[in-house]
Parts: sequence; structure tokens; C-alpha cells
Amino acid sequence: MKTDASKALYGRAISLMPGGVSSPVRAFKSVGGQPLFMKRGRGAHLIDEDGNDFIDYCMSWGPLILGHADPEVIEAIVAAAADGTSFGAPNRFEVELAEMVIARFPSIEKIRFVNSGTEAVMSAIRLARGATGKDTIVKCDGCYHGHADHLLVAGGSGLATFGTPDSAGVTKENAKDTLVVPFNDLDRLEDVLKKGKGDIAAVIVEPVPCNYGLIPPYESVYYSSARSGQPSIETKRKNYLHAVRALCDRYGALLIFDEVITGFRLSPGGAQELFGVRADITTLGKIIGGGLPVGAYGASKELMAHIAPDGPVYQAGTLSGNPLAMSAGIATLKKLERIGAHALLDKKAEYFRNLIAPALSRFGDKTLFLQMGSIFALYFTERRSITTVDDVRACDMKRFAAFHRAMLSRGVYLSPSGYEVGFLSTAHGDQELRKTAETIEESLAAIM
Ligand SMILES: *Cc1c(COP(=O)(O)O)cnc(C)c1O
Repeated sequence: MKTDASKALYGRAISLMPGGVSSPVRAFKSVGGQPLFMKRGRGAHLIDEDGNDFIDYCMSWGPLILGHADPEVIEAIVAAAADGTSFGAPNRFEVELAEMVIARFPSIEKIRFVNSGTEAVMSAIRLARGATGKDTIVKCDGCYHGHADHLLVAGGSGLATFGTPDSAGVTKENAKDTLVVPFNDLDRLEDVLKKGKGDIAAVIVEPVPCNYGLIPPYESVYYSSARSGQPSIETKRKNYLHAVRALCDRYGALLIFDEVITGFRLSPGGAQELFGVRADITTLGKIIGGGLPVGAYGASKELMAHIAPDGPVYQAGTLSGNPLAMSAGIATLKKLERIGAHALLDKKAEYFRNLIAPALSRFGDKTLFLQMGSIFALYFTERRSITTVDDVRACDMKRFAAFHRAMLSRGVYLSPSGYEVGFLSTAHGDQELRKTAETIEESLAAIM
């Protein structure tokens, strides 16, 4: 593989930007080697500056559910751009996208657009605190909610549940107002809610954690398909999330679902539709921006009445609701619905799973492939299930790094970390999926 052009760019980038990147995982630190500089995306493919063509499963970390440069999305962006990139005044596209999102999420009656998932979560937390007059937030270990200070907090060891800063520059004061419990552990959550009764504004979860591997909410059923012997995930409607909802109601805390990844990904109405559970506040991002920078948060009319200018919770944005991002989102959601994308993606996922089953079963006791809809994760582990962050931490990340390099050198681009998931898009055709399955087989054979 030729990498001269990427190497030259990286050489310049490294002296200009920390790690040579605009976001840390892109730097390839956890898989080794140097990041590749991308020039073009088309459908399921990414083409780098040296002309290498990769089948992509990172898909910009989730937004590109229709693949790279979908013609309808691009057309919408170009048309909007011709009329101006930002007005700093209301525009029709915000109204249209708001209507589309609200139609899909029964728990959202009003919505506010922002520019990233981080901003959406940060604002949702401020809303929860402003509406309840309480300060404390409960989050789960292993759930990522963007990089706002009060959420860059990790669980302490042992029984300590007070958060500790997970990043330099986050104050103890910030961490103090965040309590951390393990995902999928109802006893610990109830314990914290009981003790903190009266102080807890909200519990925030990724309904299906996708930023620390893929961790299914407990009591989603693992089953072994007859052909593959590899676990997939069957969604059981009653699960951890229902119990979290009930605990929040019992102890008077709001429930925030961070659906920045799962919204419009697991189903049009996100995890809330898939599992039949309702959040009080929902955060969105990624897919609803069609590949442009977007976030959003929404809730009932009553809760959203606290947001400025209607209420005292301040939140604003110079470029929020800009016509380009809104148009890309509208085009994406329209096309998802028109082509029946979620049924299509489920079929693709099943086809893919069956294709890779023989290769995986050769190394079946050392690998675990989990898949939920169009999200998947390959773990190097002897465990037969993943329900906690400790299960993920116990995986062999060195082996994942070797696997990543093997796949990359054979033309398949995976997210450059064993803690990240892979995404299928509607643009991944049978041919790409077959080529990927062959590549997985060769790569596993090479590294195991
Ligand atoms: C990606 C992500 C975020 C952060 O979104 P950005 O747009 O990167 O700021 C927050 N929460 C979840 C669940 C995410 O997957």
C-alpha cells in the first residue's frame, strides 16, 4: 500500500495540530501506525490521498447511514449553499427538520438544534438541572456523552461512586456533581438514587452503549444462530432500560437518553422505539445532520418551556439551525424513510453475519462478534457475552490492533480502536460485504 501522500501530510499536520488531528482517536494511537488522510468518500468507499480505496465501516463514526456523498444529500446541501450558508435568523429548514424528528420521537414535543452531540448533551444536562433545581447527575461507566466537563468523569474503583475527572482540566467540583454507576447494574443505580433522593436531577444513559465497544442493555437476549454459532443480539422489549425508567420515576429523577448514535440508527425512533421506552429528554446528533455538524435536544413542551427565550435556561448558537446542516438532515431522513432503510439494513446485517460466520467460527472460542441492527463489534475475547465495561476492558486490544492493520492493508477501513463499533450503511452492497468477509477471513488467519 502506497502511503507517501498521507505520510507527507501527517508530517506537516503533526507540527500544526496536537497529534496531527482534530479529534484524538483519529490519530491511530490505539492501533499503531500513522493515520491516513482521506480525499474522497463515495458510497461505502473511502479513497485516501495516495489513491488507496477502502471499504469503510467507520462511516464518520455513525452519521453516514446512507454512505458517503449520497447524491440526494449532496444535492440538498448544494442547493441550500447556493442561497447562503447561514442567516443568523430563522429559516424554513429548521421547521421542516423539527417536524420530521418530532414525528418520530413521541417523547419529543419541542426541539432545539445545536452544532454537535457534545453541545446537545451539555444543554440537556443544563435543562435537567434548571427544570428540577437539583445539581447531581448520574451517568454510567462506559457511556460516552461527548466532552463536556461534567461528563468527562469516570467511575472510581471499588464502591466509590463519586466521579473522578477523566481528563486533565476537569475540576473536582465538576466531577463532584456527577455520580457514576456501572451500566447494566440496577442495584447500584437504585442505591445511588435512594441515597441521593432529592438531589438528583437526571440519570443519563446511552440506551445502547456504542462508544466503549457495543454493550447491549441487559436482558437483550444473546442467541446462537444455527449456522454460525456466533452470538447476535435479539432485542427483548423488557430490559435494563425499562427498569431504569421505573427507578427514575420512583426516585423523582429525569431520564435522559443520549441517542446521538442510536437515533435514526437502531430504528427511525431510535432505541426508544426499538425497546418501547420513553425518555424525558433526548439528545440527537450524527445521522440527523447527514454528515454536517449538528446536534439537537428535545423533550416535552413543559420541560422545553424552561429553555430561553421561553424560560430561564440559557442556550444559544451562532450557526445553530444553519440551512446547510438542516438540509442535509432533511434529505437523509427523507431518503431513509422512502427506501425503507431500516429493514434494508437489517437484511444487509444478516447477510453480512452469515458471510463472516465460517471465518469467525474457525476462531470461535477467541472472537465474539456482536451486532445490533447496522451496528457491530468484533471482540477478541473468550467471553461469550458482553454486558459490562469490564467485559470490554478484558478484551485483547493488542490483537484488535493487529487485526486492524491486517484489514487496512487489505482495503478495509475499520474505526481505529478496539473500543469503537462498526457501522453498515445502505450503500454497502453485496459485493462490498462479500469482499469484507473474505478480508476478515484472511486477516484472522494472518494474526491468530
Ligand atoms: C458522538 C457522540 C456524542 C458526541 O457528539 P459530537 O458530535 O462528537 O460532539 C455524544 N453522545 C454519544 C452517544 C455519541 O455517540
